[in-house]
Amino acid sequence: MDELKAFATEMGEKPFRGKQLFVWINRGAGSFQEMTDLPKSFREKLEETAYIGLPQLLDMQVDKADGTRKFLWGFPGPDGEPDEEATVESVFMKYKYGNSLCVSSQIGCRMGCGFCASALGGFVRNLTSGEMLGQVLAAERETKQTINHIVVMGMGEPFDNYDALSGFLKLLHDPAGKNMSYRNMTVSTSGLVPGIRKFAADFPQAGLAISLHRLTDEGRSAIMPVNRRYPLTELLGAAREYTQATGRRITFEYALIRGENDSDQDVQLMIQKLRGMLCHVNLIPLNDVKETGFKGSGRARANQIAEELNRSGISATVRRELGSDIDGACGQLRLHSKK
Ligand code: SAH
Repeated sequence: MDELKAFATEMGEKPFRGKQLFVWINRGAGSFQEMTDLPKSFREKLEETAYIGLPQLLDMQVDKADGTRKFLWGFPGPDGEPDEEATVESVFMKYKYGNSLCVSSQIGCRMGCGFCASALGGFVRNLTSGEMLGQVLAAERETKQTINHIVVMGMGEPFDNYDALSGFLKLLHDPAGKNMSYRNMTVSTSGLVPGIRKFAADFPQAGLAISLHRLTDEGRSAIMPVNRRYPLTELLGAAREYTQATGRRITFEYALIRGENDSDQDVQLMIQKLRGMLCHVNLIPLNDVKETGFKGSGRARANQIAEELNRSGISATVRRELGSDIDGACGQLRLHSKK
C-alpha cells in the first residue's frame, strides 16, 4: 500500500488514492475503468501509464468429481505484453473447511528434484509478490469463489525467493486486502535451512511443510540435490528448532515412490528418525510424471504405511488425491503445454 500511495503522489494525487487502488486491486479489479470511486481524469491517466498485471488464463483443467481446478497462467513481461516463457500453475481445491489455492513461487525451479515436473521445465525467473497475489485474485475471478487458505506448494522453491514470498504473505494478511490470517497460510520447502530459520522468526503463526521423501543422506541426495547442501541432520535439527520456537506442528511431506522409498525398512527408518517430534507425516502417492521414470507406490501401500506410522505414535495421513485425473503434479500442465 505504501508503494501505491507513493505512486499516487507521484501522479499528482492524494496518497489516499493509493489506498483506493490497493483495495480495488485486492478485490480483483481487472481494469482501471472498474474503479468507479476514482476521478475519471485519474483513471484516464492510469490507463496511459500503468496496467494491472493479473495473469492471463492460458489453460484450465477441471476434475469434475471433486471440483479441483488447475490453472495455467501467463504473466505479462515488463512492457505489459504477453511473455511466452512466463507461465506458472495454481491449483484450486475445495475442502470441508473452505477453498484452498496452491500457489507457485517461481517460474520453473532450481532445485532439480528427480521426480518433479517443475524441475524438468527449467528455471526462468522468480515471481514477484504481486504475481503470487495475482494467482489468488485471478483464481477467485475465474471460480467466482473466495479463497480462504493458501499453500505455497506449486512450482518453485519459496525459500529460494524469500523476500517476494514474505511480501506476498504480508499482502494476503493486509486488513485492506484479503485480511487473511497467517494461520491459513502454509509454505512448503525442499529443505533450505536458512529459509526455515528465517521463516520461523518472521512468520511464527504460519504453517511450514518440509519435503522429506527419504531418510538416508545417500538416498535423499540422489533424488533431491538440495540434501548435499543441507543434509538430514541439519534439516531435522532446523525442523526441531522450528517447532520449539513456534509451538507449531511441522508437516513432513513424503511422496511414495515405488521401489525407492516405500519398503518396510524405509518405514522403520522414518519411525526412528521422527519419533518424539511435533510433526505430522503427509504421505503423497507420487503423481506419475512420464518423463522422470519414477512410479507411485499406489494407495493401498500408502494406507498400510500410514497405519504403521500411526501405530508407532507418528501422526500420518495419506493425502487425499484431488485432481488425479488432471495432471495433478506441479509443473505438468506447463510441461505438456510446451509440446
Ligand atoms: N519446492 C517446494 C514446494 C513445491 S513442491 C518443496 O519442494 O516443498 C510441492 C510438493 O510436491 C513437494 O513435497 C514435492 O516434493 C512434491 N512433488 C513434486 N513432484 C511430485 C510428484 N510427481 N508427485 C507427488 N508429489 C510431488
